[in-house]
Amino acid sequence: MKIHDKKYDYIIVGSGTGGATLARELSRGNENILVIEKGRHEEKYGSFADSLRYFDLHKITHMPIKSKEGVRIYRTIMAGGSGFVSAGNFVRSMEEEFKELGLDLTEEFLETERELKIAPIYEGLISKGGWAIAEAANELGCNMKLMPKAINPAKCIKCGNCTLGCITGAKWTPLVYLKEAEERGVEIMYNTSVKKVVEENGSVKGVLIHRGKDETLIKAGKVILSAGGIGTPIILQLSGIKNAGNSLFIDTFVMVYGIHEELSLVHEPQMSLVCTRFHKSDGFILSPHVNHPRPLKYIEAGMSGFMMDDKKTLGIMTKIRDENLGRVYPNGSILKTVTRKDRGKILKGTDLSTEILLKTGVKLRSIIKTNPTGAHPGGTAAMDEIVDYNFETKIGNLFVCDASVFPKSPGLPPMVTIIALAKRLAKIIG
Ligand SMILES: Cc1cc2nc3c(=O)[nH]c(=O)nc-3n(C[C@H](O)[C@H](O)[C@H](O)COP(=O)(O)OP(=O)(O)OC[C@H]3O[C@@H](n4cnc5c(N)ncnc54)[C@H](O)[C@@H]3O)c2cc1C
Repeated sequence: MKIHDKKYDYIIVGSGTGGATLARELSRGNENILVIEKGRHEEKYGSFADSLRYFDLHKITHMPIKSKEGVRIYRTIMAGGSGFVSAGNFVRSMEEEFKELGLDLTEEFLETERELKIAPIYEGLISKGGWAIAEAANELGCNMKLMPKAINPAKCIKCGNCTLGCITGAKWTPLVYLKEAEERGVEIMYNTSVKKVVEENGSVKGVLIHRGKDETLIKAGKVILSAGGIGTPIILQLSGIKNAGNSLFIDTFVMVYGIHEELSLVHEPQMSLVCTRFHKSDGFILSPHVNHPRPLKYIEAGMSGFMMDDKKTLGIMTKIRDENLGRVYPNGSILKTVTRKDRGKILKGTDLSTEILLKTGVKLRSIIKTNPTGAHPGGTAAMDEIVDYNFETKIGNLFVCDASVFPKSPGLPPMVTIIALAKRLAKIIG
C-alpha cells in the first residue's frame, strides 16, 4: 500500500449534492480540502448515449442497476453526482422530521433558496400538454401547482431532457458549488474510488483509495462521506460500521403513459407541475412527466413503452413515501422490494393519474404503467442510528452528509434538504 505525500484537514468523499455543498462551504476557511470522486468530470452530456457513461449500470446487462427483487434504481457516478441529472425540482422536505431530531434548518433552507434562485417554474416553459393535464387534474380536485425549480427560463430550450444533463446550463447543478470550491483552492481527485476509511485508536486516520490496481492511503484530520445513499453505506460497512446499509428508501415512482392525438410533454422541463394534496394523507405526489428517449421508455416499460410516440405521449408520475425496509450490502448488492403498503399508495396514485389522462382525451387502450423505480436512495446511515445529531459516526471525526442520513423517505425531491444539511454540518465542523 502506498501512502499519499500530503495530509489534508478534510477529505470529502463524493462530489454530488452533499459533497459539493460541503466543499464550497468549508472552502471559506484556510484548511486543506480534498474531494475524492469516483466518476469523471463529463464534458459531453445530454443524450441517451451520453447518459450510459454516467448512470450506474449493471456490469453485464448494461441496464440501470436493480435490487435483487427487480426494483430499478437510478443514480449516477460522475462529478456532481445524481444532482447533475436532476429534473431541477427544488422543494423543502423532511423539515419537521429534522426539527424533531433537534435540527432546525430554517436558516439553511432560506440561504439555499436564495443562492439557487428557487422559484415556481416560469409559466412560459409549460407546454399545451402540461396545461391540459393541469386543467383535467384541477377538475378532479387534484390541484396542480407550478413546481419550484432552479431553472433559468432565459437559458432553457425546452428540450424536455433535464434528466440526461442540461446542455445549456439553464438548470442549477452541484457543479456550480464545486467550481466555486475549486476556485478557492479545494483539490479534486476524479476517477478515484474510496474503498474504506482507515481508523487509528477510535478516530479517523484517512481513507484508502483505489486507482486502477493501486491502493493508497490518504491521511486526513476529518473525513466526510457524501457518496450518496448507496455509496456511503458500502464504505461504512467496509470500514467496520456493520449496521450501516439498513433502512434504505428510494421514493419509488411509477409513471402512467398514454397516447393523445394532439398533445405531448416533449417540449417542457420534466415535472413542471406538481400535486402535493395527497402527500401527507396518502403518501404520494403526482407530477406530469414523460421520459422521452425511446430506449429509456423501453427500460421503463418494455416494448409497449418503446412503441410510444414521443410527440403523442402524455404521462403522470406517482412518487410515494416508500417504506424504508431496503438494504445495501458491502458488495454493492441491494435488497429493495415494493411492500404491500407501497403498492397501495402506488395504486391510488396511478388510478388517479389514469383518470386525469383520460379526461385530457388520452385513449384508454393506449394506457400503460412503467415498472417501479426509484431515484432518491437514502436512509442507509440514518441520523440517530448511524450518525449522531452532529453527523458523526462512532469513529471519531468520521462524518456522513448526504441522503443517507435521512431518517425516513421524504417522498419529495430531497436536494434542497441535502444542501441545507451540508451547510449545517459545515458550520459545526468548519
Ligand atoms: C434522474 C434523476 C432525477 C432527479 N431529480 C431530482 C430533482 O429534480 N430534485 C431533487 O431534489 N432530487 C432529484 N433527484 C435525486 C437527487 O439527485 C439525489 O437525491 C441527490 O443528488 C443525492 O445527493 P447525495 O449527495 O446523497 O448523492 P449524490 O449526489 O449521488 O453524490 C454521490 C457522489 O459520490 C460519488 N461516489 C459514490 N461512491 C463513491 C466512492 N466509493 N468513492 C468516491 N466517490 C463516490 C458518486 O459518483 C457521486 O458523485 C434525482 C435523481 C435522479 C437519478
